[in-house]
Amino acid sequence: MRPWLAPLLLYALSSSVWAWSDHASLLWPLVRTQPEMLETTLKVESLDDFLRTEATGLAALLSGHEAMSRETFPHYAPRPDSLTFTADADDLREAFLRAIRVNPTLAYPLYRQTTVEDPFVAPGLVKNFNELSFLAGGVSHDSIVYVALSAGDLVAPAHVLASGSDEPDFGLDIGLFEDNDTDFASDYGFGTQPFGNPNLDYSSQAPFHMGFYHLDWLTRKAQPDLLRTYPEWRVSLFRALSQFAFETGHDYWGWRFAGWGLHYIGDLTQPYHAHPLPGVNTVEALWAVVRGKTNEAIQLVSNRHGVLESYQYQRVQKSLDQKEWSSPILAAVASAVDVPVFDELTVREVLTKESVDAGAELDGVLQSNMPPRYVSDPAFEWTGSGEEAAIVVTVASDRGEQAIAVLDAAVAEQMLQFSRFAQAWINDARSNWLSDASAESTP
Ligand SMILES: [Zn+2]
Repeated sequence: MRPWLAPLLLYALSSSVWAWSDHASLLWPLVRTQPEMLETTLKVESLDDFLRTEATGLAALLSGHEAMSRETFPHYAPRPDSLTFTADADDLREAFLRAIRVNPTLAYPLYRQTTVEDPFVAPGLVKNFNELSFLAGGVSHDSIVYVALSAGDLVAPAHVLASGSDEPDFGLDIGLFEDNDTDFASDYGFGTQPFGNPNLDYSSQAPFHMGFYHLDWLTRKAQPDLLRTYPEWRVSLFRALSQFAFETGHDYWGWRFAGWGLHYIGDLTQPYHAHPLPGVNTVEALWAVVRGKTNEAIQLVSNRHGVLESYQYQRVQKSLDQKEWSSPILAAVASAVDVPVFDELTVREVLTKESVDAGAELDGVLQSNMPPRYVSDPAFEWTGSGEEAAIVVTVASDRGEQAIAVLDAAVAEQMLQFSRFAQAWINDARSNWLSDASAESTP
């Protein structure tokens, strides 16, 4: 059978894989209201020290998690046995990074991202994005101030969690497929890149940051590669590592791993990360095929995805810069109402289901309120259009203030979702942290 979504979908899905740029700032309105998260009580520890101290327990944990993953996750790519982490490895860091199958060329240094509420940072402590990532950065990352930390420094859980939640966008999931041009990917067992252009840096992380767990029968049958997505597994793995770090008294790594997991949760609350074609049902998709309009439908969805992320970023950033904590969007992030209890089924059975359900309405809101060129012209390409920074001004002049109000409400709605699941995740991590603290009677 000839796949109806054609290779273009595979490419189109690659253009906007940043989701929300700057996850750390997005989380800040939520964690800044939680006093125990702001106490500077965590002792910073290097990855090497953590690994050296806990190598034996870690080996058991990772083997157990791998066995569980093979049994539990449909379409999971088993980790080759040659990557098994052992406590007697010559290079524990390399062995660990390969065992959890992240990009091993990143330094994973000690640092944190500053917030709009940070006091002045001494220039000597500032780290640039290019010390944290091999990526070129982008509008958002280049303007962020990062601070170097040293082993033994004290830092607040809120800062470690927030900083960690942006880290998976630094390249951790880039170059992991065998057709990506890296030295290590051929050992990793993920096979060829299921979608996205394998020659583009950013696009190779898409299958780790998008989770298509609720595809219709037609798509599953015609495009089975879309089933090879891994954020649910990443969340589970980083949750297990976080829990292990807390249990063994390494609270800094407990929160940092929790930050890593939170990244994927944030991505998946965005409907365009939970379904390849939100708002297009099976019948419409078939009809598009019949009319030869499939590529157009895909281009439109890709543009709406990018337009939404740019608009959301600009609105959040403006409120943050002005510290408008009571603005509807930031207040939504901080609201944390109707928070579920997080467990291993949450990502698949609750979070992504809700995101898929929200997709059609969101897609409609964008269609009715964004400039038509951005969201209804299949000949237009949003990514690289150069219109990102001015998007709010353009919407206001083309569609009026009423459109801004409707779009803001849609973004606030999404922020409510983010807040619920982020808080569920924080509660889960905090319970592991606190049970460790009471056991060890640390401050
Ligand atoms: Zn992401």
